[in-house]
Amino acid sequence: MKYYSTRDTGRRHPHALAEAAFIGLAPDGGLFVPERIPQVDMACVERLAERSYADMAAYVAGLIMDDLDADMLSGAVHAAYDFPIRLHDIGEGHYTLELFHGPTFAFKDFGARFMGRIAGLLNGGRELTVLAATSGDTGSAVAHGFLGVEGVRVVILYPSGKVSPLQEAQMTTIGGNICPLRVDGTFDDCQRLVKEMFGDAELRSRMRITSANSINLLRWLPQAFYYFYGWTAWRRATGGKTPDIVVPSGNYGNLAAGMLARRMGLPVRRFVAASNANDVVPEFLRTREYRPRPSVRTVANAMDVGAPSNFERMVWLYGGDMEAMRRDLCGYSCGDDEILALIAEQKARFGYVSDPHSAVGYGAAKALGVDGFWLSTAHAAKFGDVIARATGVEPPLPEALAAAMGKVRHAVDIAAEAGALKEYLLSM
Ligand SMILES: *Cc1c(COP(=O)(O)O)cnc(C)c1O
Repeated sequence: MKYYSTRDTGRRHPHALAEAAFIGLAPDGGLFVPERIPQVDMACVERLAERSYADMAAYVAGLIMDDLDADMLSGAVHAAYDFPIRLHDIGEGHYTLELFHGPTFAFKDFGARFMGRIAGLLNGGRELTVLAATSGDTGSAVAHGFLGVEGVRVVILYPSGKVSPLQEAQMTTIGGNICPLRVDGTFDDCQRLVKEMFGDAELRSRMRITSANSINLLRWLPQAFYYFYGWTAWRRATGGKTPDIVVPSGNYGNLAAGMLARRMGLPVRRFVAASNANDVVPEFLRTREYRPRPSVRTVANAMDVGAPSNFERMVWLYGGDMEAMRRDLCGYSCGDDEILALIAEQKARFGYVSDPHSAVGYGAAKALGVDGFWLSTAHAAKFGDVIARATGVEPPLPEALAAAMGKVRHAVDIAAEAGALKEYLLSM
């Protein structure tokens, strides 16, 4: 399998998996996609899903990354997915696929853990430094993704005083091959510093560096796998055949991966793009007008994206036929007050507490009469302040998060200057 940029419509520049993975963004500014869409055998998916998530994921991964040795791929997938995934029946016909039982309690673990293990395979133990700028959550997901991968070191840059105590604890108590840098500046400074390192020819001649941002092919593809798993679990629970699937969305990597799964043969009736006040995609589905714009702040802040990168992959999946996309996809959006009300209502009615992102999924399922399930993208305890506003009570921290809060933190303080970062990297 080769991989092309979404913008390389003449297919002039094929890339091997390792190239696409270590470059990240395609040189023409597009996003990497596979040259063809392989078809899955759903009977095989069902059989494997009954054994384990990792067995099923390794099968689907093997179809779309057919150049990798099957045993090595399977080993990496099993190492990545050593945590549970659950379809939760909350009552009255409402089902949600909980994707937040990984090491950082958010669904990004599914992408980041896979990327870490597969990048490790492709890298073959050579020295490699992964640079990641983070405003909070991505840093710990990437760190846990690459934790213990031979030859790889992860340098996380986060803005001093601008991440939550819980996020800081998650990033700075991991140890091993993870090096957190507390930057005296903003998130934008962190991003700028990382960019400057990639533009520094001298540094790059002396060390191999790569990024691990969310549009990376190795983070995107594995997000297709859990749709297959959710389908088998929902089918077993309800006897249904073609579910609606609601996806709480921000940068739309998650939904684009679901659409890829459908093109691979997963029976889905319709997808629902569920957003907070940043409703560029639901608005497009309603009006046919696509108007990317600056994001606004909401209580579901991981979905505060005004110009979603992965929309380009969605358009690619439909070969540019926007009317066909509109037939398969519904939109739903809601504001902060509604999100808080949904959290409170869900707790009162079902005794189930959702994080603010997943609550948007519940809202969409209710409003559109969904026969299927929504994805739950984070653990409620990660957003304790919002839950407290909605219900009056903070949810208890899971043991691993509580333990991280109590551990000694290790971070190196650094000025927001390229020279300082370069010196640090070269001295490691
Ligand atoms: C990243 C994130 C989202 C949005 O996912 P996209 O793939 O960017 O659409 C939703 N919820 C949570 C908790 C997230 O961390």
